[in-house]
Amino acid sequence: NRRYRKTIIAGNWKMNKTLSETRAYAEEIKPMLGKPKWCEVVLCVPYVNIPAAVRLFKESRIAIGAENCHYESTGAYTGEVSAEMLKELGVKYVIIGHSERRAYYNETDFTVNKKVHAALEAGLYPIVCVGESLEQRELDVTMELIAYQVKAALAGVPADKMRHVVIAYEPIWAIGTGKTATAEQAGEVCEGIRAVVRKLYGARVARAVTIQYGGSMNAKNAAELLAQPDVDGGLIGGAALKPADFTTIVNAAN
Ligand code: PGA
Repeated sequence: NRRYRKTIIAGNWKMNKTLSETRAYAEEIKPMLGKPKWCEVVLCVPYVNIPAAVRLFKESRIAIGAENCHYESTGAYTGEVSAEMLKELGVKYVIIGHSERRAYYNETDFTVNKKVHAALEAGLYPIVCVGESLEQRELDVTMELIAYQVKAALAGVPADKMRHVVIAYEPIWAIGTGKTATAEQAGEVCEGIRAVVRKLYGARVARAVTIQYGGSMNAKNAAELLAQPDVDGGLIGGAALKPADFTTIVNAAN
């Protein structure tokens, strides 16, 4: 699998860390992380910390990501930030459609699709989040729902842009709850996502797309989750806030 696609370990800081805390984190983690061998390491940080984070991690192998963007490139959208603005700051990745944004800020599969297009147009790599609720899992509609979310998010995205797209499978019931999906559950849905991409774009694109697992991934369970053949990395919230834990997860992928 490593022959075909990148493993990407991405931290999602959410609404955590001030500028001074960002500086302290960088100083602590840089010597610990060293040079990741082949897995790509990303930190998605709050907008206001992005310029500092780009500067602080310039000489390291850590790429900087944003946690959201607007779907228009410019205009009368008070308080919003466009993909173009992020690109110019040196941002590489952007999380799109995180379940918290879907739940608290009315993001829908439709706006997620528009944001994926905006990110790609600006030259960013979208990390597209999909995932089912506990109710949906219990109704046994997980794979149908995920297939729908993936299809809707990627609508209109041409095959040649797919090498810039990362998909993150994040079961909502596992996010911030300490309740991780079992390695089999994570592997099964990630395999299902790859099958959806195969149906849409063919075997070559499907083989090359990075599919992450997210939801209470931590220093203890990362190795087992990452050992699944279709789990190509992680999107890590809580455990990415501590340099030591995040480093352990990166090392589990290396
Ligand atoms: P968690 O968050 O690792 O704290 O569960 C993951 C995410 O929301 O991306």
